[in-house]
Amino acid sequence: MDISGKNFIGYSRSSENEHTFKSYVPAQNIELPETFHTATQDEVARTMELARKAFNEYSLISAPKRADFLMAITEEILAVGDQLLERAHLETGLPIARLQSERARTINQITQFAELIREGSWVEASIDTAIPERTPVPKSDLRKMLIPIGPVIVFGSSNFPFAYSVAGVDTGPALAAGNPVVVKAHAAHLGVSDLTAQAIVKAAQRTGMPEGVFSMLYDDGYEVGAALVKHPASKAVGFTGSIKGGMALYKMAQERDEPISVFAEMGSVNPIVILPDYLKKNTNDLAKTLAGSVTLGAGQFCTNPGLVFVIESESLNEFEESYKNEILNVAPATMLNEGIRKNFYKLRDELVAEPGVAELAYSAIESGQENQSQASVARVSGKDFIANPKIHEEVFGPFSLLVVCENYEELLSAISLLKGQLTASLMADVQETLKYPSLVQSLSQICGRFIMNGVPTGVEVCPSMHHGGPFPSATDARFTSVGRHSILRFVRPQSYQDWDNSLLPDELKNANPLGIFRLVNNETTKREI
Ligand code: NAP
Repeated sequence: MDISGKNFIGYSRSSENEHTFKSYVPAQNIELPETFHTATQDEVARTMELARKAFNEYSLISAPKRADFLMAITEEILAVGDQLLERAHLETGLPIARLQSERARTINQITQFAELIREGSWVEASIDTAIPERTPVPKSDLRKMLIPIGPVIVFGSSNFPFAYSVAGVDTGPALAAGNPVVVKAHAAHLGVSDLTAQAIVKAAQRTGMPEGVFSMLYDDGYEVGAALVKHPASKAVGFTGSIKGGMALYKMAQERDEPISVFAEMGSVNPIVILPDYLKKNTNDLAKTLAGSVTLGAGQFCTNPGLVFVIESESLNEFEESYKNEILNVAPATMLNEGIRKNFYKLRDELVAEPGVAELAYSAIESGQENQSQASVARVSGKDFIANPKIHEEVFGPFSLLVVCENYEELLSAISLLKGQLTASLMADVQETLKYPSLVQSLSQICGRFIMNGVPTGVEVCPSMHHGGPFPSATDARFTSVGRHSILRFVRPQSYQDWDNSLLPDELKNANPLGIFRLVNNETTKREI
């Protein structure tokens, strides 16, 4: 497929702006030949008008037809074939095998949403039938279900060119729920974005979706994204990336005449706490597992374990030595782009220069490629950690800080200072866990996913996954960006009072034509009424 670098405005490609920019190969620091056109403000306005119009039509398209559209997207993405993987490899430096599994995960995510809307019960239909004879006031017939909210603006992340980008965790549920989507392509994988957008547009045309159900615009700055968030037709934003970026968009959305929700998944250090008995029983295995998790994907995961807490104990020296050796053995890896590499080294070096922080291990760099990262770990006492909030922050990349606390009380004080996190892990057996209920409670209060005896990297896509957490890991701790419940970000409840049965949506009709689970007069049932 050709990569034209023109903006996707519904079914048309548009390149009004003479300002263009290029994609580049981080492993070699060279530009790729295609030029990408920054969208003009006029193109933004046209895109949003089209999305507004498309919403009127798309929100009424039946769930099975929307499911066909989603499945067509998966087919068209797979039909791009190796070109998609090779382009992603060039633009991100991520290995082909990792990209293959990320593509499979993306297909799986979209397929799960197609299945969800085909089955239909997700709309949480509830029916309370009228009681005209009730005194002193008769009761009306009331029926409620979830409905789509309108055009959703999507900002993908640099570190997942498929699963959290153009056809990723925001686009899938937004389209499934019945909302048009407008993507601001991530500047770090422009060609991948172009190929994916072509696949989505083909799928939309093939399945007869209204023009404007999907659009995608380019920019090498922030103006286009800002204009999309501020446009009156936008009704919600999905974002994965930095706290700075997420909060900038959040503020813009709140300052609109009509404020809208920004569902931003942002920074997290994903603390791991290892209790002494568990450390003693698993000293070397833990060192290996931790080093693997800290350095996976050059540490460029939102679930990377950036802080590891231990208590002084007899096995600590052996653990530190083993952890150090594991890190020293890690081969250098290409980071996603120059900006992320520079930021990684800047934050890492600043952190290691803070009082009381000592470097434990720093892996070798010779690889002959550009934008390489060295894995490293440092150590600090619990006392110095408690005294210095600067070292509590995320360093995005293959780095982790070991915090050595003198005793349990110091550990508890350190944990109480942590902000909201996507995950927290407790490494302990059952007996040891039962001894420290306050620790369990403290960790539970700050995280969206609480892990026992495991590392946080690896996010399963299933209904029980919660990928989100208290601020600043996400802007709204009530919602996940992974799994079927992520659709709840892009819908709103609506009640229908005393409507004629023939005019109600199928989900709320007496006959239950879709055969879905509903709450009827407080009883969960699939039956007709
Ligand atoms: P980012 O810089 O926050 O960018 C994400 C997207 O938002 C990009 O499309 C970017 O535009 C756009 N954007 C950022 N700030 C904006 C603003 N003020 N106004 C309008 N649009 C804005 O994230 P990133 O590029 O993926 O990675 C950079 C850093 O984010 C990393 O170093 C890391 O700290 C963090 N990160 C966190 C996670 C996570 O899951 N928590 C994941 C990835 C990255 P451009 O494309 O033009 O840059």
